[in-house]
Amino acid sequence: MSVQTRPDLGSLPAYVAGRTVPGAIKLASNECPGGPLPSVRAAIAEAAADVHRYPDMGVTALADRLARKFGFPVERIAVGCGSVALCQQLTQALCVPGDEVVFAWRSFEAYPIVTQIAGATSVKVPLDSSHAHDLDAMLAAITPRTKLIFVCNPNNPTGTVSRREDLVRFLDQVPPHVVVALDEAYREFVADPDVPDGMEFARTRDNVVVLRTFSKAYGLAGLRVGYLVGPESLTEMVRRVYIPFSVNSLAQIAAMASLDAEDEMRERCAEIITERQRVADELTAAGYEVPETQANFVWLPLGEKALEFAEHSLANKVVVRAFAGDGVRITISTRAENDAFLQAACSFTG
Ligand code: PMP
Repeated sequence: MSVQTRPDLGSLPAYVAGRTVPGAIKLASNECPGGPLPSVRAAIAEAAADVHRYPDMGVTALADRLARKFGFPVERIAVGCGSVALCQQLTQALCVPGDEVVFAWRSFEAYPIVTQIAGATSVKVPLDSSHAHDLDAMLAAITPRTKLIFVCNPNNPTGTVSRREDLVRFLDQVPPHVVVALDEAYREFVADPDVPDGMEFARTRDNVVVLRTFSKAYGLAGLRVGYLVGPESLTEMVRRVYIPFSVNSLAQIAAMASLDAEDEMRERCAEIITERQRVADELTAAGYEVPETQANFVWLPLGEKALEFAEHSLANKVVVRAFAGDGVRITISTRAENDAFLQAACSFTG
């Protein structure tokens, strides 16, 4: 008899990573163009001498730093191997087979994957006509089996946001036993003051969790480190389902060094925000529909033309991320790389 794997995993969607193509500019994974800051690079180099030792299992120094930065007891912080691992730990901590996880669609592609791995059921709520979360429809999707709702703010891949007034109204109506995970992977790129910092809600509501990452604004995607702030009892369970030592020692050191370099990080984000506006304006002038974005990427809802557009970009040596039949997501990068993309976009005749 051959090996029997879990039958329900046969339909598990694959996570599709942005492609790296030699000789082409990669604008496909929402990475930070500048690389780690010089001080962070130096800290990583110094820490390399100790990698024969296991990392600090509890990620204690980094968790302490984050607790102090945001003003939470350290018991409310969990650090993970990227915030994607924390998405998975969260579903594992909350869901049993038959439970439901509600999220917008299209949104971060890991949500249906982590839901299915936990044996739970995805409830996908279509985005509204402006490519943003339809919070009323998400409320209407809640059933007695709903355990968790992901709200991606700004949303990946559309860059759209949920604003304070709408989020407060939404949170007021979510039953208290349902956890709302505000995924703020792109928080540092938000310039609109009406987009609330999720930490405000984590401070005042017992069912709100905030997810953040060092992969984007801090430029540490390759090191894999993210963090979560949540109610104490839930955060404790999130830590218990952690794969031991999965936040490696270089990641821990680099994340702490990054927190010491917040001013430089903010300067870099300001440059991306300026470029984001320029790219959006030029695309709009070229006739594209460009949903308003507060992230480090733009979304072109090209529908059936999405793959053709991505192929055309690639022929022009720019890799973008296409979602077949839906749209294309393009990471904002340096002025020169953005110009290379704009040139490709403006010569697309499909
Ligand atoms: N949340 C969202 C919305 C994302 O787009 C990503 C990365 N693509 C993540 C979480 C995970 O980031 P990481 O695992 O690198 O921290």
